[in-house]
Amino acid sequence: MPDIIRLLPDSVANQIAAGEVIQRPASAVKELMENSIDAGATKIQLIVKDAGRTLLQIVDNGKGMSETDARISFERHATSKIRNAGDLFDLHTMGFRGEALASIAAVAQVEMKTRREEDSSGTEIRMEGSKFISQEDCAVPAGTSFSVKNLFYNVPARRNFLKSEAVEFRHIVEEFERIAFAHPGTAFSLHHNNSELFNLLPGHGDFRAQLRQRIVALYGNPYNQRLVPVEESTPILSVSGFIGKPEFAKRSRGEQFFFLNKRFIRNSYLHHAVQSAFEQLLPKDAFACYFLFLEVDPKSIDVNIHPTKTEVKFEDERSVYAILRSAVKRALGQYNISPTLDFEQEMSMQVPAKNNAALVAPTIKVNPGYNPFAEQKKFSGENPLPVPGKFSGDWQQMFDQRIAKNEPGQKILHSEMDAPVEHPSSSQIWQLHERYILTPIRSGILVIDQQRAHERVLYERFLRAMKNANSSSQRLLFPETMEIPAADAVLISGLLGEINSCGFDVQHFGANTFVVNGIPAGLEEKSAALVLEKMIGEFRENEQELRLHPQESIARSLAKQAAVKQGRILSPEEMRALADELFACETPAYAPDGKPAFINFPIEEIDKRFKR
Ligand code: ADP
Ligand code: MG
Repeated sequence: MPDIIRLLPDSVANQIAAGEVIQRPASAVKELMENSIDAGATKIQLIVKDAGRTLLQIVDNGKGMSETDARISFERHATSKIRNAGDLFDLHTMGFRGEALASIAAVAQVEMKTRREEDSSGTEIRMEGSKFISQEDCAVPAGTSFSVKNLFYNVPARRNFLKSEAVEFRHIVEEFERIAFAHPGTAFSLHHNNSELFNLLPGHGDFRAQLRQRIVALYGNPYNQRLVPVEESTPILSVSGFIGKPEFAKRSRGEQFFFLNKRFIRNSYLHHAVQSAFEQLLPKDAFACYFLFLEVDPKSIDVNIHPTKTEVKFEDERSVYAILRSAVKRALGQYNISPTLDFEQEMSMQVPAKNNAALVAPTIKVNPGYNPFAEQKKFSGENPLPVPGKFSGDWQQMFDQRIAKNEPGQKILHSEMDAPVEHPSSSQIWQLHERYILTPIRSGILVIDQQRAHERVLYERFLRAMKNANSSSQRLLFPETMEIPAADAVLISGLLGEINSCGFDVQHFGANTFVVNGIPAGLEEKSAALVLEKMIGEFRENEQELRLHPQESIARSLAKQAAVKQGRILSPEEMRALADELFACETPAYAPDGKPAFINFPIEEIDKRFKR
C-alpha cells in the first residue's frame, strides 16, 4: 500500500488559516488597520464599498516596505515583529503572527502599493486567492495602500454567510471605533460608498485629553458632560480613561471598552469589577459606560490564547480586579462629592461663545432629588392602558371558539385545559398581587399574567401595523434630537423603514444625529430616545442569538417596553379589555418570548387538592 499522507498546498493551508483570522470584512479591517498602527502611521484612511463585499481599502502614511519585504509579507508566518519565541512575551505591537496578509490574500483579490520614505519608487503587488499575479514599480506617496477586492470571492460558503449590509458595516464601524479610541493621537477617516462618515483629527494635549476629544468626535457632543476621569497607577497595573456618569448609563450594552496595552479586549471578569464599583449608583438593568486603558507589563499577560486576540489571560487576575474596582470607586466618589465640578471639559468642542458675550464656565445641572432606585409605581387612571375603548366582554366566547375552531392557538389551549370551556355565568374579574388577572370560567379559573398578556397583544398589533403600514403615530410636541454612537447609527439608519412603519417618525440628520418627531401611539412620550436605544440594543442581541426577522425584533422590543408591568394596578375594565384582546390574538397562550401568558386551573384540580 502506498503512503497516503501529503502536505497541504500553501493556498489550501492559507485558506484554512483565513477561516480563523478573517471571518468577515470587519476582521480584515482590524488586521490591516493594526498593521498601519504598527507601521507608525499618523494618518489612516479606511475606504469601504458595499460593507466590504466589493472593496476595503486602507491607506496609511507609515514606514512602508522595501521591495523584498513587500513580496515576502504575503508569506505565511512572515512577520517583522518577533524573531524568537521569547519575543512573544514582550510584545509591543498589535501583530505578531504573520498570518493576516497571507490569510487575506488567500480569500480575496489584493493590491498593495507601498513605499519607504527613503526609496525613490514604490512597489505594487497583486495577489489573488494566494496566487502571485504581478509585481511592478510604481509611484506612490510614502506609506502603504492596501486594497481588498471581492472578499471571499473564492469561498462561496463564506460569502453567502455574510449578513446584511447594515450588519456587516456595523461590525466594520465597531472595529474602526475600537482602533480610533485606542489611538486618539492618530488621524482616521472612514468613507462608505463615497460618503464620508468620519474624519477624526489627531487629538491634542495629554492622553486623557486626546481620548476625551476622540470620544466626543465619535459619540457626539453630549458625551462631553457625561465623562468622569479615572486615573490610578500601581506597580502591577495602571488605569487611565473615563467612566460614564451613572445617570447616563444605558439599558443596553455597547459602550464598554477595555484596552489592554492599547489593544481592545473583552473580559467579563473585569467588566464585573467596574460594574460592581458602581454598586447601587446604577439604575436597575443599566450598564456602566467606560473607556478604560489598562497598562501592564506585557510579560504578565498571555495574548496568544485567542486567534483574534480580544481575549487575554492575566497572571494576577485578582489584583487587577481589585485595583480596577477601587480606581473606579474612587473616581465615582470624587464625582459624587462634587458633581457640579466639570472635569476638564473639552473646551474646543463647545459651541463658540459670541464675540462680545462673556465666557461662562460650563456647568452640569444636577437634580439633587434624583434617586435612581425610586421605583415608579403607576396607578390606573393616571396613565391608562393603551387598549381600545371597545370592551365587548365576549372574550370568553372568542376563547371558546378558539377551542372549537382549528386555529393556531388550539393545540396549546388543549394542553392547557382538558375540559371544554363554556361561558362563565358571571363577569367577575380580580387582580392578584398586582400581577395576575383571575377570572372564573365554567371549567375552573383562568390566571392571566398581565404583563405577558399585554406584550402578546402589543406584539401582534405592532407586527400587523408594520405589515399593513397603517400604524398610528403620535407627534411629539418637542421633537427629540438623539446623538447615537456611530455603530448604532448605522444600524438605525438601516432599519429606519421598519422603525417608522410601526409608528415612529424618525429622521436621519447626518452622521450620528437623529430627530424623533413622533412615536407609536400608546408609548409614553417622555421615553422616545430610551425606547429606541433599548430597541437597538435588543436588536443587536436578537440578531446575534435568535436570528429574528428585523420586524419581529422591533415588535418584540416595543411590546416589551410598552406593556404594563407587574405592580401596576388595573381597573376591572382594563382587565376585561386586556383579556378580550389577548384572546383575539393569533397565539394567545404565549408571550412573544415563548413563556406562558395564562394558565387554567381546572375545577377538578382544585377539588383534588381539597381531597374531595
Ligand atoms: P504581523 O502583523 O503579525 O507581523 P501581517 O501578515 O499582518 O503579520 O503582516 C506581515 C508583515 O508585513 C508585518 O510584520 C510588517 O512587517 C509588514 N506590513 C504589513 N502591513 C504593513 C503596513 N501597512 N506598513 C508597513 N509594513 C506592513
Ligand atoms: Mg498584522
